[in-house]
Amino acid sequence: MADGRVVAAQELLIDGRRVPPLSGRYYQTLNPATERAIATVAEAGVDDVDAAVRSARVAFEGEWSQIRAAERGHLLLKLAELIRRDQDEIVELESLDTGKPVSSIRRQDLPAVLDTLAYYAGLADKINGQVIPTRADALTYTVREPLGVVAAIVPWNFPLMIGMWKIVPALACGCTVVLKPAEITPLSALKIGELAIEAGFPAGVLNVLPGFGRVAGQALVDHPDIDKVTFTGSPSVGRQILKGAAGNLKRVTLELGGKSANIIFPDADLDAAVKAAAAGIFFNSGQVCSAGSRILVHDAVHDEVVERLAARAESIRLGDPRDSATGMGPLVSKVQMNSVLGYIDIGVKEGASIVTGGGRVGDTGYFVAPTVFAGVQHDMRISQEEIFGPVAAVLRFKDEDDALRMANGTAFSLAAGIWSADIRRVHRFIRRLKAGTVWVNTFGPTDVRLPWGGSRDSGFGREHGDMAIENFTEPKAVWINTGR
Ligand code: NAD
Repeated sequence: MADGRVVAAQELLIDGRRVPPLSGRYYQTLNPATERAIATVAEAGVDDVDAAVRSARVAFEGEWSQIRAAERGHLLLKLAELIRRDQDEIVELESLDTGKPVSSIRRQDLPAVLDTLAYYAGLADKINGQVIPTRADALTYTVREPLGVVAAIVPWNFPLMIGMWKIVPALACGCTVVLKPAEITPLSALKIGELAIEAGFPAGVLNVLPGFGRVAGQALVDHPDIDKVTFTGSPSVGRQILKGAAGNLKRVTLELGGKSANIIFPDADLDAAVKAAAAGIFFNSGQVCSAGSRILVHDAVHDEVVERLAARAESIRLGDPRDSATGMGPLVSKVQMNSVLGYIDIGVKEGASIVTGGGRVGDTGYFVAPTVFAGVQHDMRISQEEIFGPVAAVLRFKDEDDALRMANGTAFSLAAGIWSADIRRVHRFIRRLKAGTVWVNTFGPTDVRLPWGGSRDSGFGREHGDMAIENFTEPKAVWINTGR
């Protein structure tokens, strides 16, 4: 596969086979670094969704339900082995679709995916119930049963990793899955679907449907035979999903957006803080739900931090995602680039000042310069709304209360970071920050063992770790009359 050449048509994956779409429709995906076509992809329509859900239901009631829990774990390990075998191709597909630097996918996404598989392969046969004593004439206990057919709807910013965060625990718990990747980044999901078939997952256990949100995504959300929707994406689509799920009262987990604050006090290790603050907003071109997009800096070190942050931004090498020296790739699409450039204009009009960056780089590919705004006021739109691009808003604060008011003062509650050497202050902030994750003297690490998610406009529910058991199983109480 070479960049610029349209690769073979990518069909839907339903019932263990590649099938052309009943919709009869195909669309093209583009490489955001070159704007050239990469693939012709089948577009799932409502009938395709129906076929995939039927297949997932038959598999759930049939073959998959008869498989030992330990065997589900073995299948996940086999899938990990195949991903390792084909990692070069997977990394290349992910990079072509998203524009992410290959080096970053190898360093971050791929290890996270393998970790996820290992973790849940081990968990598959440890999904226990409890014996709960009630009365002398009864044996009373619970078992945990898989929820059923799961729709996994995934965004374009980490298609492979976020996809696996959903499908792997669902499969470990004994559910079957219909996975809908984002329309513009379907290739790694289709590859994983093929590897799952090769690994020996029975037909229908994992179906992959590229397609558009308003058609295939909505059809999944509305489908009466889906038991659970696990969704990562924007708050506006999250709200639509809740409405659709009301039809048959589907379970829903929503991982939505963020506007995370990264708070820097004068007693922090400023070298480490500035380095992490830059990575926190410029990693993945800022297209990260937990990006540290608001950098709150104490008066005493504000000017120094702004200057050093700008220097770091200027040192980031933009370019070809295949080049190992590239630090930052393009944004994922023209739509996303224009949206980010629009926010930069808004910031200027609102009266914030651009310290560095502030525009598109080159005229091919959707590259935007790492941008630092200073003089940002808390109520400006660039301080309140998720930009999802390489744009840092630096805000100045005078004391702890001021910092907390701003940190907690958006619609989101996903993550926050604090930099300080004062252990008592750190604990005060951990207690008072409204966030699903608080990072202390670091910013950004996640791990499949630790719960991940937020509240308010950042959604609800938690992924990762043993929380997934709650997400994909349901307890059944059993009461056996034993007599006296
Ligand atoms: P998006 O909401 O536009 O799309 C996400 C997915 O939903 C895509 O697969 C899309 O096709 C589908 N979709 C769109 N409309 C739908 C509908 N009506 N019904 C069902 N599905 C529909 O989001 P995006 O632009 O792909 O991703 C960016 C957003 O994702 C940002 O807001 C970001 O913060 C968020 N995000 C959150 C996390 C997290 O863990 N909290 C992680 C990554 C991204």
